[in-house]
Amino acid sequence: MSAVDPAIRIGVFGAAGRMGQRIVACAADDPAVVLACEVDRADAARVDLSDVDVVIDFAVAEATDALLEMLGPTAAALVSGVTGRTPGQEAAIAARAEVAPVLTAANFSVGVAVLRAVVRHAARALGPGWDAEIFETHHRGKADAPSGTALALGADVAAARGLTWPGDRRVRDGRTGAREADTIGTAALRGGDVAGEHTVFLFGDGERLELTHRASHRDIFARGALRAARWIAGRPAGRYGLEDVIAVEY
Ligand code: NAD
Repeated sequence: MSAVDPAIRIGVFGAAGRMGQRIVACAADDPAVVLACEVDRADAARVDLSDVDVVIDFAVAEATDALLEMLGPTAAALVSGVTGRTPGQEAAIAARAEVAPVLTAANFSVGVAVLRAVVRHAARALGPGWDAEIFETHHRGKADAPSGTALALGADVAAARGLTWPGDRRVRDGRTGAREADTIGTAALRGGDVAGEHTVFLFGDGERLELTHRASHRDIFARGALRAARWIAGRPAGRYGLEDVIAVEY
């Protein structure tokens, strides 16, 4: 942003939530943005988004219809970090990208963006003889499992290996029998206030790699979403990801 550029007017959807509160707080420290409105469940019906440049959505998957209805007549860009959407809700987000710029990411941390590239490289280099499994831990309030980030990491391994995703995903519980080749297991723990931890294990014979990212504070996601909002303002309609904002090659 140059000295003459006006600040980007953002609206925060899900503003009262754990993430929404951090975005509001981090936006106050970001001179490139102005907080035009905060929306949460109670006031969602009464909000006018007509002069908002970018809506940052960290509400819940169930609020997707309400969000898109509210955005409907406006030209506002959408940056969404919400995870756990159904295929129907994903299709509705994709339809919005036909008429306005939309950027979604299951994880707005720069570290996870780089982890995803490293995981693709490692899975491709090590080849199918190395068994890939994904383990994640989050706070007790998280509503979906496995996390959107774990699913994205699984998709990265599958892409690197020529597997289908989520078709080759396995949840290991009960009498599973021996591990099937060309599958990727996911496992989740929930407890306390853990902001988010992900490990991709690549098990060889006699050695293994453990590629781990640990978030110790939600502000990393909030700052990433604000960076995405600064990047997307004024772009043409279309679907974007964090890899468009941060130069990471997958
Ligand atoms: P939260 O439950 O603390 O907050 C969600 C907020 O949405 C609540 O304040 C709730 O009242 C509000 N809400 C619910 N229905 C609404 C509606 N119809 N209209 C407006 N607001 C509504 O959840 P959280 O921990 O802040 O996480 C929110 C989402 O962000 C989850 O999907 C989570 O997985 C995801 N998340 C993504 C990232 C990322 O980097 N992409 C990081 C953390 C969390």
